Parts: sequence; C-alpha cells; structure tokens
Amino acid sequence: MRDLCEGKLIAVNGMTEPESGSDAFNMKTRAVADGDDFVINGVKTFSSNGPVADLAVLYAQTDPDRGYMGGVTAFLIEAGTPGFTTGQVFDKMGLRSCPIGELVLDNVRVPRSAVLGGVGGGGPIFNQSMEWERACLVAVHLGAMERLIEQAVSYAKTRKSFGKRIGENQAVSHRIVDMQVRLEAAKLLTYRTATRLDRLKSVGFDAAITKLYVSESLVQTALDTVRTLGGYGIMTEYGVERTLRDSVAGTLYSGTNDMQRNIIARWLGL
Ligand SMILES: Cc1cc2nc3c(=O)[nH]c(=O)nc-3n(C[C@H](O)[C@H](O)[C@H](O)COP(=O)(O)OP(=O)(O)OC[C@H]3O[C@@H](n4cnc5c(N)ncnc54)[C@H](O)[C@@H]3O)c2cc1C
Repeated sequence: MRDLCEGKLIAVNGMTEPESGSDAFNMKTRAVADGDDFVINGVKTFSSNGPVADLAVLYAQTDPDRGYMGGVTAFLIEAGTPGFTTGQVFDKMGLRSCPIGELVLDNVRVPRSAVLGGVGGGGPIFNQSMEWERACLVAVHLGAMERLIEQAVSYAKTRKSFGKRIGENQAVSHRIVDMQVRLEAAKLLTYRTATRLDRLKSVGFDAAITKLYVSESLVQTALDTVRTLGGYGIMTEYGVERTLRDSVAGTLYSGTNDMQRNIIARWLGL
C-alpha cells in the first residue's frame, strides 16, 4: 500500500470489457473455483495504466446467475502472474500521459487470498470505488479550470482589437464571468461531496451530481478559453487545446455522464 501511495507501484482498476462498459456487470470474465484457487479467463479493456501496471484489481463473475447481487468478485492480481498479459494499447485524443489498454486473462490461477472483500462482494466494492473516483478525480478539474481562467483573463486584458482590449467587450467579459461562476459552483460541489464522503461513506447521489457538473464545466471552460484566445487558442504552444482534448475523457470515464444522469434520476424516484 505504501509503495502505491509513494508512486513506486502503479495499479490498474479493470472493470470495462469490449462488450460491457456502461452495463459493466454484464461482464464476460469468469473466475471458476478450483480447489484452493480460482482460475480466471477474460479480457478487460480501456484500463487506465493497464499497460504499465504492477498490480491490478480485476472483477470477474463467480456466479453469473446472481450478477451484481453476489455474483461478481474482485481479485488482486500481480503483473507477471502466468497467463496475465497486456493486450492492445490504444492511442487517444487526450490524457496521453496515462497509457490505456487491454488486460488479457488466459487461465490465470490465483489463490483464494487474492479475493478482495469476499467471494461475491465485488459489486459493492466497485460501486464504492466509483463513488470515491467520481468525488475525488474532479478535484483535478478545479485546478485546470483555475489555470484556464487565469489565461483567459490575462489574454483579455492584453490583447487589443479595434483599438481596445478585448476584455472591454461584454461578449468576452461575460464569457469569462460564466467560467468563474462555473468554477465557484464546481468547487463548492466538490468540497461538499468530499466532506460527505468522509462522514457518510456512501455518497452515490452527490458523487454523480459532482462528476456530471464538474466534468461538463471543464469541457465548457476549455472551449470558452479557446474562443477567448481566438486563433491562438488552438495553437499547441498555449496548452489550451490540450486541456480541451483532455477534458472530453472526463465525460466518459467513471461512468459516462448519461449514466450519472440515470443515477440521479433513480435517486429522484424517476
Ligand atoms: C480515458 C478513459 C479512461 C478509462 N479508464 C478505465 C479504467 O481504468 N478501468 C475501467 O474499467 N474502465 C475505464 N474506462 C472505461 C469507461 O468506464 C467506459 O468507457 C464507460 O463506462 C462507457 O462504456 P463504453 O465505452 O463501453 O460505452 P457504452 O456503454 O457502449 O456507451 C455508449 C454510449 O451509449 C450511452 N449509454 C449506454 N447505456 C446507456 C443508458 N442506459 N442510458 C443512457 N445512455 C446510455 C453512453 O452514455 C454512451 O454515450 C475508461 C474510459 C476512458 C475514456
């Protein structure tokens, strides 16, 4: 654990499969008990850090008839375990410093001690890990939005057109004001959800709202910064286009934003 926190070991969380993303519990990966061991077969995909990970938390069906309700088990598997290999590595439009790819399990034999949280306990473990991910990963977006706003304000104060600073045009200043308002709202949501996560342990509704709002805010703020910088906005040396490319992934990972809306709708009884 300490080595993970210090960055000496890299971990991957493998749930998504080629044919199951939003409906993650419809996975095909199977773990079959064999004496004191489990034998696991399947393919995970879009696994962040998968191509370079030392350690994997992987989910497999141990009782396919039960699905989420006791049918899925989480396993901790080390790189180098016979039969456990990396598959295709994908190129993506953003987040290129985080490699992403497939993990292939071909008759991977692990002892029962590799089971996390008990056989059949994978569903709640995955859901809780997603609540943490949705609540905490967006904190990175807050910093990105702050940086974008600083860039936009600075540019609007110095760039001149028609003999005056572009920030003197209401079309420009109001766009930046909206960026600031989004950031303040995103901050409060993130802090509130983090506080609740600390106290309540289960924050499905808050985490979904926060992930949805903050990730969409980053996309909009990155796009608005590109617009504010005009043609310079899409030139790579300014770094704004990179943030725009990176931001799109935030609407997809940890469950797409459509799925966050589904979660919120369920909490509202719809
Ligand atoms: C950058 C990145 C990093 C990732 N990292 C990981 C990782 O580390 N580990 C991991 O396991 N996975 C990871 N993923 C996978 C991610 O969780 C899935 O991509 C995501 O859950 C969506 O699954 P899918 O791509 O199969 O899309 P699909 O589920 O096929 O969805 C396609 C479209 O249909 C919509 N849709 C599907 N079902 C519904 C529904 N019921 N209601 C409304 N709309 C619906 C979706 O919102 C989407 O727009 C990552 C993905 C990305 C992009």
